[in-house]
This record gives sequence, structure tokens and C-alpha cells, in this order.
Amino acid sequence: MTHNVLLAEIMHETNTFNRIATVRADFETRYWHEGIDTARALEGTNTEIAGFMEAAIEHDWALTVPLAASASPSGPMAGDDWATVKRLILGPLRAGKRFDAIALVLHGSMVTETTLDAEGELLGEIRALAGADTLIAATLDMHANVSPAMVTSADLMMAYRTYPHVDQRERALHMARLMQEVLVGAPRPKLVMARLPMMDAANHGQTAAGQPMPGLLNLAADVERRDGIVCASIQIGFPWSDVPDIGPSVIVTATDESSGRVAADELMQAVWHSRHHTQLEFATPAEAMALAGAGKSGDKPLVLADFADNPAGGAYGDSPNLLRALIAAEIENAAFATICDPLCVECAGSAGVGAIIRLSLGGKGAPELTPPLDMKARVINLTDGEFICSGPMWQGVRFSMGPTAVVRTGGIDVIISSVPTAVMDLNVFRSVGIDPEKLTTIGLKSRNHFKAAYAPIARETMLVDAGGIASMRLQELIYRNIPRPIWPLENLDLVKDLLTMKP
Ligand SMILES: [Zn+2]
Repeated sequence: MTHNVLLAEIMHETNTFNRIATVRADFETRYWHEGIDTARALEGTNTEIAGFMEAAIEHDWALTVPLAASASPSGPMAGDDWATVKRLILGPLRAGKRFDAIALVLHGSMVTETTLDAEGELLGEIRALAGADTLIAATLDMHANVSPAMVTSADLMMAYRTYPHVDQRERALHMARLMQEVLVGAPRPKLVMARLPMMDAANHGQTAAGQPMPGLLNLAADVERRDGIVCASIQIGFPWSDVPDIGPSVIVTATDESSGRVAADELMQAVWHSRHHTQLEFATPAEAMALAGAGKSGDKPLVLADFADNPAGGAYGDSPNLLRALIAAEIENAAFATICDPLCVECAGSAGVGAIIRLSLGGKGAPELTPPLDMKARVINLTDGEFICSGPMWQGVRFSMGPTAVVRTGGIDVIISSVPTAVMDLNVFRSVGIDPEKLTTIGLKSRNHFKAAYAPIARETMLVDAGGIASMRLQELIYRNIPRPIWPLENLDLVKDLLTMKP
């Protein structure tokens, strides 16, 4: 039997400390598809939309796809564009179309100029229009800050289980299976959430061997084998978002609500106990330069991750601090990706390849932390900044850095982009004519996602704190909306009965 399913995506991780509003054009540099015909461009990619489309064929769903849109993490979404998102996604429901189920691809940590809980607001309006009978399911990023409003409006909810995130398609297929079971008669589940007053845990969810997250996911898998439990999902939260619902959470999808409650509290306690594994100490630029200086030509690359200015954490991606250290240390056979500075790209473009130019590079977003870098450099390459990801993360998806310039100073090639660019894919370098595997030192903007593609080619990877608004020194950020007390801003280690402190 054919079921009518509405499938929609609005995916944005919002760093509320970023003062620049995110607009529709920022989504268009990744993707913004209205209607199923254009959304088919995502078929075959490692995305939830592709997974749901694949599942729709298997389960004989008639899909309506009003919007599939994803942007790089950045500041709160502009109010007008958020209104457009809601108008598009709610459009078929407002027009009176009936759906058996609704599948939403969400991040979970989205903030707009008009709401601190974008997903909660959207899910609430969808539920109000669709009615109680429609099955509502949502997939989330592992770094979702889940709100009670999200949970009360949905029937099924599940986050990624990998970080770096490489299971987008797989999670959608899993979710589609659970949806189909209910559509053909399995009991309708309920969502149970647990949370404790904390901002981060389990080393931000890293799933590499030796990290605490794989153990937590194993516990969740054990819980899923219990009677009455459909799915157990652990969200690690996103600490660079100043919202009341900040931090890790557990959502258990259960047909037996009391078993769900027990399981959710149990898993949340395990998450709480993982908090001290959160990595709070990182290399300084000086320590990183000592290691880089020891590299010899022919070595595999040392990969230095400038995570405190990581655009995938919503930072500006324009800090030249780590690059400044590489230049001062006269590191050879190195490349840095990327410094976002559209004005410098324009300047390189009008000078042309081969010209020597003077730049005041980057440092516009948070000059108090990361001032611009005055430099002289030769223009090596000019490109449109487009590339298709070789994966594994985002494999097959087209990304754009905007008009892009490569300039050389000493032994360092610097990729200057026109949009903030988190470096997760080797094609960031290859697309501008640089072979990352031949470099001795790579500097890049990322915290963990780069490891999926770069760890296999690296002699070593190192996280360097060179300053920025995605720093792990959360004490230095000024929060106004989060609940207090909260770990790690307050030491809650001696609090006996944490469950009574539930936010
Ligand atoms: Zn994430």
C-alpha cells in the first residue's frame, strides 16, 4: 500500500557567538532544493535525503519534498529567511494535503533571529497542522541541543552515531524502516528524553577507538534490545549556542513509556560520567610549530587543526593566527586551508596569477581574538572554489568555497576563500591544484571532521588552540540564556542527586 510521506530538510548548526546572520545564499553554497525534482540532485550522496529517497522506493512511499536545505554552521539564521523555510515546509500541510508520515532532516541546534529553538518551533507548527494521527519522525545531528518542544511534537527521533559524521544515509534508512513498521501496524511509540545540567560530554562525541562515545553507543544498543524500546539516541549537544536547552541529551523511542523512562535516565547517567573525558587541553601554536619544524621533506603530512576558528563549529573561519605562526616559524612545503576573506580574493583576482600583492588577510570577524595578518604574497591560482567531495563525509556532494585564490608566501600556500570553509575533504586542496599528500605540513580549519579524510594520509594530526569563537575554553564565552548551575562552568561533581536538577 502506498503511503504519502512529506520529506523535508532544514539543516543548520548555529553558533550564537557569530554576529553575522546566516541567509538563504549561505545555504545555496551547499544546497537549497525546493521540490522533489531538484532534490533528486542529492540521489546517491551520503545524505539523509538520499537515504530517505532510497527507502521511499523500497517502502512504496509517495514523497513530497518541499525543501531540502543545508548550510555550513554559522550565525543565527535571518528572520525573513526562517519565515521562508517555514512557509515552504508547512506549505503542503497548509494547502490541506494529508500525509501518513512526515520525515524531517534536522540538525537540532538551529537558532534564528526570531527563536532560540528553531526545530522545536517548526515541529510544533507541523504537529498542529498535521494533526495527532500523522507519524512525525526526525533525524538529528549528534550535536543537537534537544528541546522539550521537539520531543513532544515527534513520534520518532534519532541522531547520528558517528563523529566524524559519516552515517547520514544509514541513519535515514534506519529511521525509514522504523517509520514503515509503524505505518504497517506496529504500535505507535512515544519519545522520552533525559538531560542533566551539562554543556558537553564524551569528548564532544568523537567515535574513534579509545574515546568514550563508542562505549556509550554500545550501551544504547543494549537498551534497544529491551522489550518496549524501539530506539535509543544520544545527542552530545552543541556548546557554542547560548540557548536554554544546551547540552547532551538522551532520547528513547519506546512503546512502553516506563521502560523508556528507566532507559533514558540510565543512559543519561552514563553520559554524565563521561564528562571528564572532554578534552580541555590543546596544543599551543608554539608547540605545534616545534613539531612542524621537525618534519622532513618526504614525510607524510602533519595535519594541524585550527579548531577554535572552525567554521563547522560556526566560527568565522577567517582567523590567521595559526597561519601567522607557520609563517613566523618559516615552515616549508606547507599549505593552509582556508582563510575566508572575499576582499583579499578580489584583490588577488584583479592582480592576476603571478603578481605579488600586499594583503591584510582575515581577522575581520573577531579582531579582538584573531587580528588580521599583514603579508606579501604571490598569486598562484584563482578558481571558482567549487568541488565535489571525495568523502567519506559528504561524499558526492558539491561544495563551494566561493571565488578562491591561492597565494604563496615563503614555503606556504594559502587558500583564501570567499565563504567560511571547514576543511573535511581532500578536494579542498586538490581543486586548487595542491596535492595534500605531498605536503609536509597542513594547517586547516576543523576540529574532528577532517580526520575521516586526513587521518589516513597524515603522519600525525594535532588540535591547536590558536583562539576564536569555537574555542573549548567555554568559561571565556559570555552566556546569557543557559541554565545555571551547569557543568563545566560550575563544578557539580559533589552534587548528590543530579536527577532532581534536571533542567
Ligand atoms: Zn555534528
